[in-house]
Parts: sequence; structure tokens; C-alpha cells
Amino acid sequence: MEYVQLTSLTEPQLVAYIQSLGQPAFRGRQIYKWLHEKQVTDFSQMTDQPKAFLEKLSEAAVIETLTIARKQVSKDGTVKYLFRLPDGNCIESVVMRYSYGNTICVSTEVGCAMGCRFCASTQGGLVRRLTAGEICAEVYAAQKDVGERISNIVLMGIGEPLDNYNNVLDFLRIISSDHGINIGMRNISLSTCGLVPKIAELAQEGLGLTLSVSLHAPNNTLRSSMMPVNDAYPVEELIAACRAYQQKTGRRISFEYAMVKGVNDTPACAEELAHLLRGMSAHINLIPINPVDGSQYSASDAKNVNDFKERLIALGMNATVRRRLGTDISAACGQLRQEAKGESDQ
Ligand code: SAH
Repeated sequence: MEYVQLTSLTEPQLVAYIQSLGQPAFRGRQIYKWLHEKQVTDFSQMTDQPKAFLEKLSEAAVIETLTIARKQVSKDGTVKYLFRLPDGNCIESVVMRYSYGNTICVSTEVGCAMGCRFCASTQGGLVRRLTAGEICAEVYAAQKDVGERISNIVLMGIGEPLDNYNNVLDFLRIISSDHGINIGMRNISLSTCGLVPKIAELAQEGLGLTLSVSLHAPNNTLRSSMMPVNDAYPVEELIAACRAYQQKTGRRISFEYAMVKGVNDTPACAEELAHLLRGMSAHINLIPINPVDGSQYSASDAKNVNDFKERLIALGMNATVRRRLGTDISAACGQLRQEAKGESDQ
């Protein structure tokens, strides 16, 4: 028998499910609060529910939980978790401390199918997609462990969020619900490698989140050499989708640009990039690439990154160099999971 994954249900879905078990709607609303406001991990903690009902529920449904397989704390306060899922798979989440609050970077899939040539997360391909409840559990487990409120979320961990569209949308509805942890959409960023049809779909959802696009190159030749997804959705289609997204939502779009020495960090690239994004309300985030094992790329040096930024600004663009947190605890996303896999393979 398939267990119902309780933490993955939105409030209306949970209420309907609890009613299908012969219980009144208010019990569904109470259980939703237990799961998402109080974040219990066991049915026995739902103290206002009849015992017999909880027994019946626990025979049909599970609360999605994670265990901490490994944890690293950086000198700057960044905490990186390797979480183990009940099926044995591992994912990563990172909590970063900013002046405006704690931000968590969550994974949306185990592995990734996108194949970006600089990214550790994709090296073993896609294993499976996470449920909405498993993504919630990353936030809840990290918040509990850190012992402070998490107020911001970036979907920039392992996986491609728009490749797991329905579960990610349910996650967003649950995590922003005011009967749960209540993290507002304004405090959430979703990062995509550029799945054009899904960007168009997301534009229709009316969510106030920030869309972040991993661009990394200003033309097709370069981008296809770094990101196979560009063969399916070339730069001009991606940028057109971004412009349409902006028109529909009125939101500024963030573009990630990982700088690779001698590849995409030339003055000509900066000019092409500025030209490509002209007229759009955009913010360009420059990140020196984090070299991963098995990749031929190395990071642009600090002067090059700064010159690139200054050139963009001189061309009227809004660009910053991303502050790097947690560099002493290894890493670009996906690296901890790769390390742990390596150890268990030996
Ligand atoms: N799949 C989504 C989200 C996960 S990756 C996406 O592609 O946007 C989060 C960000 O980290 C992306 O911008 C990705 O391109 C970037 N990234 C991946 N590996 C990196 C590396 N080695 N160095 C710097 N940035 C990297």
C-alpha cells in the first residue's frame, strides 16, 4: 500500500483527505498547523487529536522527515547540511546568515538531469524528484537545528526546480501559507537553468517570488558549451521568456553569471551581455565559478570579475559580485553529496 505523504498536501488537499477518513474539516486544519506551524515530526505530538484517529492516520499516512547525515559550520556562521531521506538518498541545504535574516538554500531534486558542465549536482544524473513535503522538511529541520527563525528561501540547491514543477509549486503554496511557517513570496527566490515553457507557466501563477535565471553566457555558442539545456532553449528564446515574465509579473529578474577564466569573462562578453539584457529590469549577479572535480573550468581572478562588473555598470546595467559565504566548508552545491557518495562507494 502506498502511504499518503501528509506534509506534501496543501491545506485544502489535507482537509479533503482528513474528511475522506470520516473526520470533520477542522481536524484537517488542526493537523495542517501541527505539520507546518509547529512542525512536528511524529503523530504522537499532535496532542489535541483523538488517539484512535491518530492510530488510523499513521497506518495510512506518513510525515515526511529528514535526518542530519552531516553538518558543517563555517567561520562566518554558514551551516551546510547533508540530509538523509528515508529511502537513503542524500540532499544538501545551506543556511546563510545575513543582516536581514537567515536564508536557506534548498534542494528540489536528488541529483539533476540538466548536465551543466560546471556543476557537481548533475554529475550522477537525476535520481528522483523531491516531494513538496520533503522540501518543507529541509526548511523545518534546518530551522530546528539552527534554533532561529528562517525568513528567506532560495531554491538554488541540488536539482532544477522547474523540472519538478508541480511539487515545487505545492511547496511554495505550503511554505508561504499563513497557517504554516508563513515565509512570504517576497522572501523567496527560484533559480532556473532556463526551462522556457515552465518560465511561461510560472508567469501565469501570480506568485510574487523573485525569478533568478542561470544565464552564465551571452550567446548560444558559449552557453551551449557550458549548459546542454541551451540546445533545447537557446538564449534568444530564454530572454524573450524573461521579458514576457517581467511584463506579466512586474518583477525584476536576477541573472546569475558564473565567471570562468578565459571563457565568459572577456570585455566582449560584458558588452554582449549588456546588449542582450538592455531595457529589462535586471540584476546581474557575478559569481567566480567554484571549480568542481572533473571540470576543466577555473575561476576568473578577482580583478577580472571586478573589471567585468565595472564594464556592465558603465553600460547602464545593475551588477554586483556575489559575496561568498561558507567557502571554508567546501563548496558549491552538490559537492558534499558527491563526497559522501565517494566515501560510501569505497
Ligand atoms: N537548477 C537551478 C538551481 C540550482 S543551481 C539553476 O540552474 O539555476 C544554483 C546556481 O548555482 C545556478 O546559478 C548554477 O548555475 C550555479 N552553479 C552551479 N555550479 C556552480 C559552480 N561550480 N560555481 C558557481 N556556480 C555554480
